[in-house]
Amino acid sequence: MQVTLAEKIYKLKKEKKAIILAHNYQRPEIQDIADYVGDSIELSRKAMEEKEAKIIVFAAVDFMAESAAILNPKKKVLLPSLGARCPMAQMLTVDEIKRMKALYPGVPLVLYVNTLASAKAQCDICCTSANAVRVIQSLNADTVLFGPDRNLAEYVQRKTGKTVIPIPEWGFCPTHLLFQPEDVRILKMEHPEATVMVHPECTSEMQKTADFVGSTSQMCKFAKECKAKTFIVGTEEGILHRLRKDNPEKQFILAYEGAICPNMKLNTLDRLYVSLREEKYVITVPEPVARQARKALERMLDIPR
Ligand code: SF4
Repeated sequence: MQVTLAEKIYKLKKEKKAIILAHNYQRPEIQDIADYVGDSIELSRKAMEEKEAKIIVFAAVDFMAESAAILNPKKKVLLPSLGARCPMAQMLTVDEIKRMKALYPGVPLVLYVNTLASAKAQCDICCTSANAVRVIQSLNADTVLFGPDRNLAEYVQRKTGKTVIPIPEWGFCPTHLLFQPEDVRILKMEHPEATVMVHPECTSEMQKTADFVGSTSQMCKFAKECKAKTFIVGTEEGILHRLRKDNPEKQFILAYEGAICPNMKLNTLDRLYVSLREEKYVITVPEPVARQARKALERMLDIPR
């Protein structure tokens, strides 16, 4: 009998005491084989809770694997595709941070986890799209510097009433920028009863079309609890697999069918298998960058859920 790739991965995983963490935007076959599927904060917590694991295979993009490596210095963290880099994370440089800190002395800097470790090491606290509002509310400051996502910065400003200064001025996610309100309006003509869920990385115009704005994990929770039967979804298409699996009786329609993050999709089952077998690509973050970034991540993880 032929051994399937999935069976080979299960076997290796057991032998090597490895766990597979997959982001909600991963391909369905990777989500199905993963030990945990979730958003970046859920996966960071899982990585820390798994005391027995020696290896973490992080099926996602660079900054998430970096965060796992920072929070788990004794574990080997593998990224199946070295090219899986988030373009938004590359938009904020340490030089830009230093420039803005000099312009706004004493103003706290909050960084979305979608940043490189070198940037995280410069900030006061990190946040994810799931907890950005709570993180900003927790700070004893009316003005904050926030980066790199401009749309998330505007969302947080609306929600908290604080002054949120974006850094850099126009950081964005190329995939979430593909969504346009016109597409939702047309889909609503076909499905007038549909509930619209949108990620805060979408533009504020797109967010205005939504009945619910939230992170991927918040969308999953909302879809389960909401009585609606049809949903128009404004985030990367990988989330549809989890939404459909969790809610087989409900219908989920992507607000724009081309909203696929090419970076997330670089991870394939073949690459994941090779990654585990050859223990590559190992993601490491040098001290003292890791030490400083860890403080900002741990500060975020201490905020009550
Ligand atoms: S969906 Fe956007 S923010 Fe997420 S990894 Fe892809 S490019 Fe980066």
